[in-house]
Amino acid sequence: MTHDLVLRNGRVVDPSQNIDRIADVAFTDGKVSAIGEGLTGRETRDVTGRIVTPGLIDLHTHVYWGGTSLGIDADAFARASSVSTCVDTGSAGPGNFPGFRKYVIEKSEVRILAFLHVSFAGIYGFGHNISVGEGQDMRLLAARDAVEVVEANRDVIVGIKVRIGRHASGAAGIAPLDVALQVADEVGLPLMAHIDEPPPSYEAVVSQLRPGDILTHCFRPFPNAPVTGEGKVKREIIEAREHGVLFDIGHGMGSFSWKTARAMIAEGFLPDTISSDVHALCINGPAYDQVTTLSKFLALGRPLAEVIAASTVNAARALRRPELGTLKPGSVGDASVLDLRRDSFALEDVRGEIVTAEERIFGAGLVLGGRWCGSNE
Ligand SMILES: [Zn+2]
Repeated sequence: MTHDLVLRNGRVVDPSQNIDRIADVAFTDGKVSAIGEGLTGRETRDVTGRIVTPGLIDLHTHVYWGGTSLGIDADAFARASSVSTCVDTGSAGPGNFPGFRKYVIEKSEVRILAFLHVSFAGIYGFGHNISVGEGQDMRLLAARDAVEVVEANRDVIVGIKVRIGRHASGAAGIAPLDVALQVADEVGLPLMAHIDEPPPSYEAVVSQLRPGDILTHCFRPFPNAPVTGEGKVKREIIEAREHGVLFDIGHGMGSFSWKTARAMIAEGFLPDTISSDVHALCINGPAYDQVTTLSKFLALGRPLAEVIAASTVNAARALRRPELGTLKPGSVGDASVLDLRRDSFALEDVRGEIVTAEERIFGAGLVLGGRWCGSNE
């Protein structure tokens, strides 16, 4: 059979099927149609020397460009990182979600899914010179409106977002989490909770989460690091994982530290998902993009297949979208073409610590819905 598109002779790394071998990947009618040798297509791209993975999912991004000051351009970001699905986490709330849908989600090439913020206007007060936490004023917590907006947009809304911490919820403390949990329960979707500096504590937030809920910024630095001063994982965090809570990186400008990551990995506590939390204030460093964030875990000694799993099959599971994050024939025809370069790379964390890495992943091409969307070169 002749397929629509064939990526020829790449190193196919698909953790959902335990595949890591040289093969062709074919797409037809917008879906993955085959993995094998000698496949023929109406369009063929030679990807010899490159890595082909299921379309990368960045579980934590901010892509409401123009509608919120922290938003970046979704398509430019997706191309730079070879990301096929950007999950926007709480840029928009029920008061401004329709604009996000009409002017960004529907206009972008890249697939965009969203966690709807429980605060009425999403993350509205976040810029270079201003920082007003959208959870600080309880009058903005819009439970009924959030339920209505979810019901009208279930094709693209995959969860509820809330931000808890000294900066995001301020004097309201942990109270917005109660409202967000009630909304998530009412609509039957996962909650993603952000934490920043205390109060409240990481332990207090994570202990409230339900199985399938996501704690983002999980490897943040002190204060509110997941490890004690002696480098041990805090008990409540281990209990939350046993309870089924998922742990997401959400690098951003303040939430990934080498010190925390080394301690967590030494204790055998790995993140479920790796995400960039790229927004306007960290796209020029220290987060940059999703492939740089993934590369930091290679630098920590984690194997490539595990790192790819954290941005494909694990992320799809967290989203409850099993048709994403895999190259199983019949699944959504998204794929990422990556370049793993060996050299000397300086990778900084949010505290300015620099680790010299010997390899780094670069985006080299993207397939969306079975269509070649071009490469970076
Ligand atoms: Zn964020």
